[in-house]
Amino acid sequence: MKFSEKLISLLKNDPVVSVLTGAGVSAESGVETFRGENGLWRKFKPEELASVDAFLSNPELVWEWYNLRQNIVRDIEPNPGHYSIAEMENIFTSFYIITQNVDGLHKRAGNTRPIELHGNIMRNICTGCCKLFDEIEFTGEVQIPYCDSCSSMLRPDVVWFGEMLPEEALKDAENAIMNTEVFFSIGTSAVVQPAASMPVWAKNNGAYLVEINIEETPLTFYADESIRGRSGEVLPELIEEIKKEIHE
Ligand code: NAD
Ligand code: ZN
Repeated sequence: MKFSEKLISLLKNDPVVSVLTGAGVSAESGVETFRGENGLWRKFKPEELASVDAFLSNPELVWEWYNLRQNIVRDIEPNPGHYSIAEMENIFTSFYIITQNVDGLHKRAGNTRPIELHGNIMRNICTGCCKLFDEIEFTGEVQIPYCDSCSSMLRPDVVWFGEMLPEEALKDAENAIMNTEVFFSIGTSAVVQPAASMPVWAKNNGAYLVEINIEETPLTFYADESIRGRSGEVLPELIEEIKKEIHE
């Protein structure tokens, strides 16, 4: 794959780099995207499962679905796209990774401090006292887990429809965006707010905006360049190219 001279010349000067990822980056690990052909939301209506109202009216159903998703995530591995993003953290002196994914794969690939905008599906939180709990593996039937401190129901520590993003993650993301010189938007449909606006903020703030996606998105025409391809294939090639340039 041929990368633009502009991109390579920017990257070889060790700029501040930020990466925003979406479900597409995990697609090659076997996690289904939400809006793809086999997207999870085609089988279930999102408001029936991923909202506080859904949880309060049918916590058993919501827990059953999350147990299914937690089992999927437990069994998958990071793919070359994740490993390349982890390598970027070593290549660039100042590097930020912001993710909409809840699967924890960036950390497992080696990124030390991914900014998780939508939480982490392998972590649970008490609906009463907010105590955090590690993942729960059910041996038999899925049952609603309860807090050992206050006896309230536990829920997955993810952001549901209609909920605010975690304040600290949002603050960290804003800080990254304000500082960044090259911003990558990778494997995201760029429609879920506020993440969808982040590449635009970064560009308005002077960053060079690069999109990597298998399809066109609403961001494509706004980006300085849009690279069409799978993140697990494009990113390893890009890393190789940057390393070659740095060592020349
Ligand atoms: P999305 O499903 O809306 O979009 C995925 C995007 O990735 C699409 O634009 C698609 O063209 C692209 N894509 C698919 N395969 C790709 C590949 N191999 N390489 C590059 N691009 C590829 O997902 P989104 O934009 O992340 O937003 C939706 C929401 O879905 C978020 O709130 C997120 O929390 C949630 N979600 C998370 C996971 C996960 O944690 N792995 C999985 C599904 C959904
Ligand atoms: Zn509690």
